[in-house]
Amino acid sequence: MQMDGDQSSNIEDRRSDDSMGGGMGGGMGGGFPIPMGGGGGGLFKGGFGLVAFVVIAMIMGADPGAILNDIAGGGASYSPAPSPPPRSAPSQSGPSASAPTTDAESQFVSRVLKSTEDVWGDIFREMGRQYREPKLVLFRDATRTECGVGQAAMGPFYCPADQRVYLDLGFFDELARRFRAPGQFPQAYVISHEIGHHVQKLLGISDKVQQMRQSMSRRDGNALSVRTELQADCFAGVWANRADKQRGGRMIDDKDVDQALAAASAIGDDALQRQAQGRVVPDSFTHGTSAQRARWFRKGLDTGDPRQCDTFRAQQL
Ligand SMILES: [Zn+2]
Repeated sequence: MQMDGDQSSNIEDRRSDDSMGGGMGGGMGGGFPIPMGGGGGGLFKGGFGLVAFVVIAMIMGADPGAILNDIAGGGASYSPAPSPPPRSAPSQSGPSASAPTTDAESQFVSRVLKSTEDVWGDIFREMGRQYREPKLVLFRDATRTECGVGQAAMGPFYCPADQRVYLDLGFFDELARRFRAPGQFPQAYVISHEIGHHVQKLLGISDKVQQMRQSMSRRDGNALSVRTELQADCFAGVWANRADKQRGGRMIDDKDVDQALAAASAIGDDALQRQAQGRVVPDSFTHGTSAQRARWFRKGLDTGDPRQCDTFRAQQL
């Protein structure tokens, strides 16, 4: 993959923050962070039986608000950090916004983010709307979000309440090793999947889904979640199609596409469950099967048309 172009100004680098390391205010009872990987007998001292769940939830886009509410019945809430005192120069992104990132990995993330801003900016204009750019927070281990405490072990996620994508770069090692999806395009797919959730938020889709889930059985709620996730996969493909076109078809080749499809398959619910518990429980799926995830990503990638991503009306996923 060749990811050239400008970097985004919407990266919020919290990797050197250790505000979460000591006493994190309230609610969760300490014991963090959960080490990435979960393979080394990671300890969780928070008091809930979260470990198994976190392993299963180690998928893209797990909404920590929803997850923690599921498990802890709302007890996971905490008081957000107080806003920094107003200064003469208004700072949109708070004290952690930093100078342009210098390491190669975060520069890559920043270029992908910028490219999603360009592509979705265009698409929203075509729809007669305005795209509001999300922030992308780089963090290590754990960080505060409006959706609760974000854990690296959850994998990358989007928080609709603060419209930020949260990413611990350690997940890319997971992707390469545990999910056997090395290469940059799978990483870009992960980022653009999360951006897909932001697009859903801006289009009012996430709120609608959230609202509908409240009056649904868990089983139906999960089915709705699958459609939401597959749409984000499709949106990720739409981005890749357009970003590649903007670079004269030089951004990705067939090998990149194969790698990204492999990544989408590796994090299908069936694959994850088989790995975590040795069996597959379709009713509990929240993200879709390997085949479905690869198929919807492919659909967005082939068409570059977000209207092809109506997973909610699709008869067959
Ligand atoms: Zn997702």
